[in-house]
Amino acid sequence: MWPGAILFLTGVWFAAAWGNAEWFSQAVPYYAPVVFGIGLLLAWRFGRSRVSAVLVGLALLNYLPGSELGGATAGSPWEAGGIILLVLIGALSVLKDHGVFSRFGIVQPLIVAAGVSASWALIRSGRSWVPSWAWQPILPGGLAPWSGLSDATVLAGIASLALTLAMGSRRDHPMEKGLFWVLVATLVAVAQGAGSDGSTFYLMVAGLILHVVVLETSHAMAFRDELTGLPARRSLWRELDSAGRLYAVGMVDIDHFKKFNDEHGHDIGDQVLRLVGSCLGRVTGGGKAFRYGGEEFAIVFPGKDRDHAYGHLEVLRKTIEESEFTVRRLVRRRRQSKATKTKKTTTRRKQPTVKLSVTVSIGVAERSKQNPTDEAVVKAADRALFRAKKKGRNRVAR
Ligand code: GH3
Ligand code: MG
Ligand code: MG
Repeated sequence: MWPGAILFLTGVWFAAAWGNAEWFSQAVPYYAPVVFGIGLLLAWRFGRSRVSAVLVGLALLNYLPGSELGGATAGSPWEAGGIILLVLIGALSVLKDHGVFSRFGIVQPLIVAAGVSASWALIRSGRSWVPSWAWQPILPGGLAPWSGLSDATVLAGIASLALTLAMGSRRDHPMEKGLFWVLVATLVAVAQGAGSDGSTFYLMVAGLILHVVVLETSHAMAFRDELTGLPARRSLWRELDSAGRLYAVGMVDIDHFKKFNDEHGHDIGDQVLRLVGSCLGRVTGGGKAFRYGGEEFAIVFPGKDRDHAYGHLEVLRKTIEESEFTVRRLVRRRRQSKATKTKKTTTRRKQPTVKLSVTVSIGVAERSKQNPTDEAVVKAADRALFRAKKKGRNRVAR
């Protein structure tokens, strides 16, 4: 959550400190297209269609005319456009990213563009009463009169914030967490009023949060293992590099996993890998788990020696030995004949679950005179693992 929060709060501080300076209103219009442009470039290069969609919405809200169209209904297209953008950002938090120019990817910015500019189109065609709902109060006095936002904006904002928050905790990805702060910045921008420096500034802040979202997502892809959610091998080397003079490493390997895959299928193998991974993530004694590759994991005990690690790895091995992992069997639907199809037999069959267990072998080594480098310690742990395998598996070897 914090990269977006830091950027937003920095923006608030920046606007409070220099929002009234002359250079601020001169600079903001020049920087805004740079922010939106670089964001779109990043979205395209990294295949983040949702980032491109939100940026298109932010830019449109910034550049479509504010109050000069509406006359008596001033602010209406701006408010209505803002509300639609808020709702669409919430909706995007549920969707997935695609390549920007892929079939599904290109639809996202197009829908946002159409949605945000709809109220301007309605006013141009003489239907200004349609978007005028945007600032109708729901309660007399308004829901949050202090915010300067219309009731509809407040409601749309709260709904979308709740949705991104829920998706953020469910998926635990930088994108959904970033979208939460993009929404906050957009709400503040809308509160600043159409065509103001403040609104351009906060839309820019929202754009910058999206830049960080792209970088954070790429960081997660590089340093996290997608299947298990554990930090990946690259993170292991970084951890060892900063672990100091004394540390122990346990190399964990699932026993007979090839046979397990052959017996139960790769899909079930993946599910078990995920469950073993989460078991390893709960290792005691200050250990940190990493996916080394395939069915191999590494556990680092910073500041701890081999004997300390051995005890906790033995507990871990035993926990895994005694665990029953509940997995879902993939039901392969047989191709239905045309006759059964017409009978509407589309009800989903419940996937049967099965309980399976695996064992692991572990080799443990510590940093010492014989193993002075990170690579040497990992190699020593690997040799110990080999000994554990040779002795009959399902054991920890020093
Ligand atoms: P040993 O007890 O000696 O470790 O035998 P093993 O079969 O576990 O070891 P081996 O290195 O021969 O095979 C590892 C197997 O792990 C091969 C592959 O099928 C499986 N595997 C590796 N990565 C994955 C993965 O991401 N998903 C699944 N389902 N299986 C994987
Ligand atoms: Mg192996
Ligand atoms: Mg193995």
